Amino acid sequence: MTDTAAILAHIDANADRIVETLCDIVAFPSIVKSDPREAGPGERDTQLYLKRRLEVLGMETDLWEPDGPALLEKYRGRPGAHEGRTFEGRPNLAGRLAGAGGGRSLMLTGHIDVVPPGEASHWSTDPFAPVVADDMVYGRGTVDMKGGVACMLMAVEFLRDLGVTLRGDVVFTTVVDEEIGGMGTLAMVDRGWKADAGILTEPSANRIAPICHGILWGRIIVDGIGGHAELTPNSWQTTGPVDAVGLTRQILNGIDTINARWRFDPVKNHPLMDQPNQIIVTQINVGEHPSSIAGRGEIVIDVQYLPHEQDEALTGGNVKREIEEHIAHICQADPFLRSHPARVEWILDADCAEVPADHPFVTTMQAATGAAGNCPTLSGFGAHSDMGNPTNLGQTPTVNFGPGDPAFAHQPNERVPVADLVACTKAIALTLVDWCGRAGA
Ligand SMILES: [Zn+2]
Repeated sequence: MTDTAAILAHIDANADRIVETLCDIVAFPSIVKSDPREAGPGERDTQLYLKRRLEVLGMETDLWEPDGPALLEKYRGRPGAHEGRTFEGRPNLAGRLAGAGGGRSLMLTGHIDVVPPGEASHWSTDPFAPVVADDMVYGRGTVDMKGGVACMLMAVEFLRDLGVTLRGDVVFTTVVDEEIGGMGTLAMVDRGWKADAGILTEPSANRIAPICHGILWGRIIVDGIGGHAELTPNSWQTTGPVDAVGLTRQILNGIDTINARWRFDPVKNHPLMDQPNQIIVTQINVGEHPSSIAGRGEIVIDVQYLPHEQDEALTGGNVKREIEEHIAHICQADPFLRSHPARVEWILDADCAEVPADHPFVTTMQAATGAAGNCPTLSGFGAHSDMGNPTNLGQTPTVNFGPGDPAFAHQPNERVPVADLVACTKAIALTLVDWCGRAGA
């Protein structure tokens, strides 16, 4: 019989195999761009590599190209359903390792698409020729999130090395399309891939994060009236201009006031989140010409919301309406904006989810991660992750848990510590044993 100490010792002794697996998959440039028709073969190559590895482990596998238009038709208005998505040459992958029976199943899931590397001169290494240095692995996707995918695979492989047979099934899924909206995960759940619990190995510095934020992107349009900047203006009621710079400033001040209020609003706070929800202004574009009074302003916002704020469709409809009402209220204070109110256009709604802290899977994971040398306290995942569709639609309570500091995601010189990869793999292996049960034990 294999005990916990033997599993941990075997993983320590074979840490280089986790690093090798990560380097293998980082070398596939699985870049996804906002127009998926521009995708190269990197996503498919990564999935074909993983498919072979799963089959060596004895898994039955399922490699398929989702039908974007059919999914949109079926799930329009629901999280992850996007217009104009094609999956041609961009397959999802799933595998199942059948258990001996009588145990709970566990899904290990992640995405294999990565964002473009950006400016080449900002990298000190080739983003797709991974380098191990200073106990870190460098390369695009090392932290977001091929590091997590390598840990998922190796945890299963190490248990197999040791002859550990689980009672419950292990479900392994890797999806495409996460970085542009999560339709790959929607397709995976729609195809029926589910389990009694799930781990999404997005980077969380090996902290268990059973909640993520929902995110709204919006554009606030502020219309003034343009005019000649150097002439004495008439009043706007009689053909004069109205400066959109000043109007935009009023909206920005109003947003600051809302944020100050949200800071102490219990609805906008969650015990596992470091910060209250905020409306973050990410872009401001005002004016047209150096000698013209600005006729139009545009403020782009990124708004966080929490699972208890979701509407019936599990999206951010309630929060959208709340923001629209706030903006309308700000406009009431200005004589021009009162009759020419600013309006909000919504660009994106990325959903959220929460698994209760006292859920048996969360407590099982806490024990396993503690035994693997990680901090077992829970934290929130501040950004959006794909945990929503498996948890809410697929009825697979899914938590975020993965190696590396998410602050390095999407950055040049992206990197993940080898120690994090090892500790994450240990935690997943012990969770598999504890949750799925060991045959013959
Ligand atoms: Zn990610």
